[in-house]
Amino acid sequence: MTICGNLARINERIRAAAEAAGRDPASVRLVAVSKTRPAADVIAAFGAGQTLFGENYIQELVTKLAEVHESVQWHVIGHLQSNKVKYIAGQVAMIHSVDRISLAQEIDRQWGRVGRSCDVLIQVNLSGETTKSGTTENATVQLVRECALLPNLKVKGLMTMPPFFDDPEAARPYFAELRRLAEAIAAQQIAGVEMAELSMGMSGDFEAAIQEGATLVRVGTAIFGTR
Ligand SMILES: *Cc1c(COP(=O)(O)O)cnc(C)c1O
Repeated sequence: MTICGNLARINERIRAAAEAAGRDPASVRLVAVSKTRPAADVIAAFGAGQTLFGENYIQELVTKLAEVHESVQWHVIGHLQSNKVKYIAGQVAMIHSVDRISLAQEIDRQWGRVGRSCDVLIQVNLSGETTKSGTTENATVQLVRECALLPNLKVKGLMTMPPFFDDPEAARPYFAELRRLAEAIAAQQIAGVEMAELSMGMSGDFEAAIQEGATLVRVGTAIFGTR
């Protein structure tokens, strides 16, 4: 299968899942996860109409920022070390993986330096797996409140990565829980904080995530092939 054909099939499945859930398909954005893939694959996907790309590794992202001249949007979706933030200041549209205040402060500082503000999601580790990044569910509201005080950071919602299951239905309770948590935080009406975005769902389970309210699905292998 080509990238173009894969994208068409994924977009069709997104549309069908949204409609089955009574949602507007336009309320779900596809983040094409291009980690480990060459810039040529990003350019091919852009040629097929895909404009939003997700990357995990800053070194790799910096290389692609230099190699891809098409007007794509980049999101950082993976664990982010504070000392790497300076390399991407002002150059990505969203960071999905804010899970500690020290990282948020560094994003605020670096985006302020270039005179911009950064849209972020708070990554929540709902499973408690120690191998996964993310703040705990209980600490999420406090982190959102602290981020809300940073002038160059805009909290737009939450992100999660459930444990890996063969059966996408097994991930569904985590997606539902992230939505409940976002609703509970939204109800607190914290100044400057939006809970409009839920980043959840990957190649194996994005349809279940859409049924539970995902607005950003992060799909890699189903578009670009196995890594
Ligand atoms: C790699 C990655 C994805 C994409 O996973 P696929 O199974 O290839 O679709 C999504 N989210 C995060 C955080 C990732 O690291």
